[in-house]
Amino acid sequence: MKKIALYPGSFDPITYGHLDIIQRALKVFDNLIIAVASNSKKTALFTPEERVELIRLALKDFPEVTVDWFEGLTVEYAEKMGVNAIIRGLRAVSDFEYEFQMAHMNKRLKPDIETFFLPTGESLFYLSSQIVKEVVLLGGDVSGMVPDVVAKWLKEKIVTRSSQIKIREGD
Ligand code: ADP
Repeated sequence: MKKIALYPGSFDPITYGHLDIIQRALKVFDNLIIAVASNSKKTALFTPEERVELIRLALKDFPEVTVDWFEGLTVEYAEKMGVNAIIRGLRAVSDFEYEFQMAHMNKRLKPDIETFFLPTGESLFYLSSQIVKEVVLLGGDVSGMVPDVVAKWLKEKIVTRSSQIKIREGD
């Protein structure tokens, strides 16, 4: 029987940190469902549809991966998809408390679903979607941190946003 895991997250947008976790999870699991959580508390730059599209483009050479998005509880979505393993990446100590709390809450909600943590790739521990967005906003180069297509979309989105803000300011 195929071993399938769910990798949920905001992916706003996908970075090489996420891709590293995906490639390593695929050494243990046959298939992965990457699922964009659309109801995150964080305000997103990209819509769920755009985030899904970027993940699909970044993972076009990975037939063992499917990409989707969901609303509501991760464990409910996992159950609906018939998956009992959730993958999460752990970066620095700062990730630990939240991830630990969430893994326990998920276990309480659905005892049959297990969370598996993978430590961040050693050269990627500093990388987050948030910091990548900040760097692009300030005109920095993010190649090597995100796939080229993501860098392109980021620039377009952030330039459009700031020109809209400027137009509004000039009203
Ligand atoms: P969320 O809002 O659910 O934390 P993210 O897209 O920020 O969504 O992250 C999804 C998962 O990927 C989380 O488990 C996060 O810890 C992990 N992750 C993000 N960036 C990295 C990275 N650079 N290295 C390892 N794991 C990462």
